[in-house]
Amino acid sequence: RPLDRSARVFVAGSRGLVGSAMCRHLEREGFTDVVGPGSAQLDLRERRAVLAWFAATRPDVVVLAAARVGGIRANATRPAEFLSDNLRIQVNVLDAALEHGVERLLFLGSSCIYPKFAEQPIREEALLTGALEPTNDAYAIAKIAGLLQVQAVRRQHGLPWISAMPTNLYGPGDNFHPEHSHVLPSLIRRFHEARTSGARRVVNWGTGTPRREFLHVDDLARACLHLLEHYDADGPVNVGTGTDMTIREAAELVAEVVGYQGTIEWDADQPDGTPRKLLDVSRITALGWSPRIALREGIAEAHAWYVEHQASGA
Ligand code: GDP
Repeated sequence: RPLDRSARVFVAGSRGLVGSAMCRHLEREGFTDVVGPGSAQLDLRERRAVLAWFAATRPDVVVLAAARVGGIRANATRPAEFLSDNLRIQVNVLDAALEHGVERLLFLGSSCIYPKFAEQPIREEALLTGALEPTNDAYAIAKIAGLLQVQAVRRQHGLPWISAMPTNLYGPGDNFHPEHSHVLPSLIRRFHEARTSGARRVVNWGTGTPRREFLHVDDLARACLHLLEHYDADGPVNVGTGTDMTIREAAELVAEVVGYQGTIEWDADQPDGTPRKLLDVSRITALGWSPRIALREGIAEAHAWYVEHQASGA
């Protein structure tokens, strides 16, 4: 069912990578009432504040893109925050949405909810069939709880809420922190800094052999609206490109796009994380969505965004 363009859409996490892309996409698609307070205005971990905000704002549609996120090191070193913050954000927003009878809701999870050694490409049915990757199990458990809450509300209250599970994301508005970010923004920053300082050597984390799939966040935003309009069933829907590459190949591509020409080395004392997590995207492609942004172009765009907004201490 198409969404009414005048519906009030609450994008939780509107300042983040996914939420900001979602707001841009909704506006491009003609939505006239998109609301998204920043965390200074509304701390989603505070239950009473969230309930009061829903009572005052009364959204018709909710996109739950708010989360504490980070790369492999942030997840591994701060599991207590990843578990507690994400559980609280989700329970508060989902409970408030139920209390206010929000009809349409999309919850965003992550491909790390699937077992570490799931059969590749990973189908949605692999959920809860094996042990998780320990470097991000706290985040994964929180996201699994959120997706189960969405299913529970569907079953108990008959609301057509849905969940999407995106693969590794990147794009404008990403976090480029040298320690806490995900791999592509980390590489963009590292190679950019090496190029500008004239360094001839960079060292990346791990062995470079794990495989990852990368999706531009604008493609995800299109997928989210597509799912809200074309999907209504219990199971989560994977969102990815259907192709992956080694971290080493990703590093070579970033180096080329950024214009770094020195050597690329690997520090095998840093964790690799899960060996591979390629999503099976047949469910969403059968619904008529497919990605449009090629990785090379996407990386060039993310690099340009980084240079404009964050490079050299900006
Ligand atoms: P993951 O997909 O949940 O494991 O999260 P990341 O995006 O943080 O990491 C993906 C892979 O990239 C892992 O195998 C890391 O070891 C590797 N990697 C290599 N260099 C870096 C880096 O500078 N930062 C991050 N975050 N990962 C890196």
